[in-house]
Parts: sequence; C-alpha cells; structure tokens
Amino acid sequence: IIQLYTPLNWFGTYYRMIQNSFIDMENMFELFSEEQEVKDLVNAAPLRFRTGRIEFENVHFSYTDGREILRDVSFTVMPGQTVALVGPSGSGKSTIIRLLFRFYDVKGGGIRIDGQDISTVLQASLRSHIGVVPQDTVLFNDTIRNNIRYGRVSATDEEVEQAAAAADIHERILSFRDALDTETERNIQASLAKVCANRTTIVVAHRLSTVINADQILVLKEGQIVERGRHEELLSKGGIYAGMWQKQQSGNESSSDSDTERKDK
Ligand code: ATP
Repeated sequence: IIQLYTPLNWFGTYYRMIQNSFIDMENMFELFSEEQEVKDLVNAAPLRFRTGRIEFENVHFSYTDGREILRDVSFTVMPGQTVALVGPSGSGKSTIIRLLFRFYDVKGGGIRIDGQDISTVLQASLRSHIGVVPQDTVLFNDTIRNNIRYGRVSATDEEVEQAAAAADIHERILSFRDALDTETERNIQASLAKVCANRTTIVVAHRLSTVINADQILVLKEGQIVERGRHEELLSKGGIYAGMWQKQQSGNESSSDSDTERKDK
C-alpha cells in the first residue's frame, strides 16, 4: 500500500490506519501462535457476501468445558449499522468477536452472515470480509482487497513485516491514548464515523464516548446481554450502562476504563 502523504501528527497516522482498515495487532500476534482450532468442512463454500447482515442466535460458548462464557446471546446487526459491545472486563466482548471470526465454534445456537451459517463457509473467505482497526476494535465486513487478512495463518513474510511495523505504530498510539484531548477524540470519532459508513460495524468499546452514535449498544455482563438500546434509551433507563456512563463522566476519564480496559501488552 503506497501512501501518498506523510501524516503530520499522530492523528494523521491514526486516521491513515483506520482508512487502511489495519488490524488489531495484539490479537493478530496471538493468533499466529495459536493452533488452528476449527477446520473447514469438506464441502465448505465461500461466503456469498451480499449486504453484510450479522446475526447471533441463542449463542452459547465456553472455552473449556464447565464454564460458560457466553449464555444465550442473540442480536442482529443490520447492513451498514453499528453495534457497540460494552461491559466489564471478562464479560465476553472479545469472545463475541473471536466467534465471528470463527476462531472457535459455538457450543449452541448459531452465527450467520447474510443468512449463511459461518461454520459452513470457508474460513479464509469469511475473514476476508472482516477488517479490524485499533483503539476500539472496529470490525466491518466489506470487500476490502488491500486489507491484511486478519487471522490468515499463512501470511507471507512481507505481511508479517507490515504487521510488525503497524504494531509499533499501534503501541505508540496506545501510549498516546491517555493524552487524548477533546479535539483529538472528536477527530477520531469523525474518522471512525467515516470508515464505518455503509459498513456493518461492531465496536468493542472501551471509551463509552465512542458509542454515543451506535445504532445499538449491547451491554454484556457475565456472558449475557443484560441491556440493549441506543445511548439515550439506556441512559434514561438508569441501569448498568447509565452507571458506567456516569462513572466515566465523573472525572476519571483517563483511567476511566480500568474495568472495561483491554489488556495492552
Ligand atoms: P476485556 O474488556 O478485558 O477485553 P472481554 O469482555 O472482552 O474483556 P473476554 O476476553 O471475551 O472478555 O473473556 C470472557 C471470559 O472468557 C473471561 O472470563 C476470560 O477469562 C475467559 N477467556 C478468554 N479467553 C480464554 C481462553 N482462551 N481460554 C479460557 N478462557 C478464556
């Protein structure tokens, strides 16, 4: 990918990365070292991508027997819409993303994209329609040819090098993140809005301010969706989301997400 301009500041870099639908590198490196857990069916066919409708229906999941991590999770993301996953650390947000990539198979229920059960399609084709960007993890399915294929175990050396370079940038962004001022945050939101336009998007939101405009917010607790709705609806409900929001607004913005923070390595 040839860039025709040099970013003038970190926001420029960030924006460029979002535009290129770069990857959440932490997860990617984990992934390279991980053994392939699921296999394609013998007669697996490519995903026939149409509008990008994502459905989770009564999904149950556990990594190891005995401890259920997701319990009866159902939601639909309509084509072009944005859904935000929020909830305390360990509530299952990243697990939902991993299942969408089919790093694991569900134990009950099903996940469909444009009506096709993802366990029946070729993994490579499934993943080729999903991109990830850092900070808050944003997924969108689209035919983005230049996307580095998230989760492609057979990545070339060049791709890994690219990944490493981006990981370095990513790390610097992570350290920069605490210094985010309102203006920068606004800019990031604007660029996210741009990149999410016309793409089905799932945001794992660690800063609640990035979810205000989501079409649907899913609040997870101990593997269950305990609240759902738009920002204003959930605020007026005065439940868990409203509590999280109040907590984040009341000053401890930078360490704000200590309980919704992802582990940065
Ligand atoms: P965070 O905000 O900290 O990223 P999360 O909401 O994304 O948290 P998950 O990463 O989905 O939470 O984890 C949900 C639960 O599954 C946690 O209790 C976690 O310990 C457990 N878990 C995650 N990955 C594995 C794994 N590979 N094997 C076993 N248990 C796991």
